[in-house]
Amino acid sequence: MMRKALLLLCVCWAAALTSLDAQTGKKVFISVDMEGISGISGDDQLGAAGAEYGRSRRLMADDTNAAIRGARQGGATDIVVNDSHGSMRNLRLEDLETGVRLISHSFKRHGMVEGLDESFDAVIFIGYHAKAGTPTGLFAHTGSGVVADVRVNGRSVGEGGLNALAAQWFGVPVVVVTGDDVAVAQVAEVATGVRTVVTKRAINQRAVELFPLADVHRRIEAAARDGVANARRTAPARTPPYRVEVQLRTPNIPQVAEILPGMQRPAPDTLAFTANTMPDAYALIRFVYRYINPD
Ligand SMILES: [Zn+2]
Repeated sequence: MMRKALLLLCVCWAAALTSLDAQTGKKVFISVDMEGISGISGDDQLGAAGAEYGRSRRLMADDTNAAIRGARQGGATDIVVNDSHGSMRNLRLEDLETGVRLISHSFKRHGMVEGLDESFDAVIFIGYHAKAGTPTGLFAHTGSGVVADVRVNGRSVGEGGLNALAAQWFGVPVVVVTGDDVAVAQVAEVATGVRTVVTKRAINQRAVELFPLADVHRRIEAAARDGVANARRTAPARTPPYRVEVQLRTPNIPQVAEILPGMQRPAPDTLAFTANTMPDAYALIRFVYRYINPD
């Protein structure tokens, strides 16, 4: 009788622990770009018209899967993957580890951070690249080819920096960033404490030294595991107003976009505006470079 009671107690305790685990399981957001993926080195890998595109979609899924496996080892029970490159229809659900949700297509207000909110415990950036104007970053650009620089409250940021500011708005820590050596160093300047995984060494904007894929995957998995396991949400960092300047490569877009309410044009090639929230700032930056097309 005593032994039976003890056994029952043990079973109940184990069940309680399991349900506690499920309750405290972490929710993780993974934003996946393509330029910084391990094994990717050429323009013909980056778009659907490219001869090597099919191969690079698989490489993109492989780096993502390493992050998913690591995140789960670190306690993630709910994972959202946001395809964050170009058409944003690069990742195929069937190539990803089972059980994750996938946000697909580029027609979204918040682009690379679409779907991110206060409900997440950690953010992971996979396959990121250096910001526009960086001479040594592979495929260095911000948003699209039309942007020369983006400044938020006077600070120049690339895509990774901007996405990190968005995560900070929600109080969700960016725990891992992967990409070439130049890209991850730039993101780490904004996302303090982030674990960086160097997938390749940028020699300049076109040449690169690729690292062994299995080794990169192992390092991504380990960083995601440790990053998610140690993720601690912070108080949302909300310090409006956000003064934004978007400097374009030519005056064409500013010429048209300055008609938008609240938009200023402090220089022929530059648009400036003030937003009360970081998500609003983010959406308007994206609107300017992506949806106003002079061609
Ligand atoms: Zn991209």
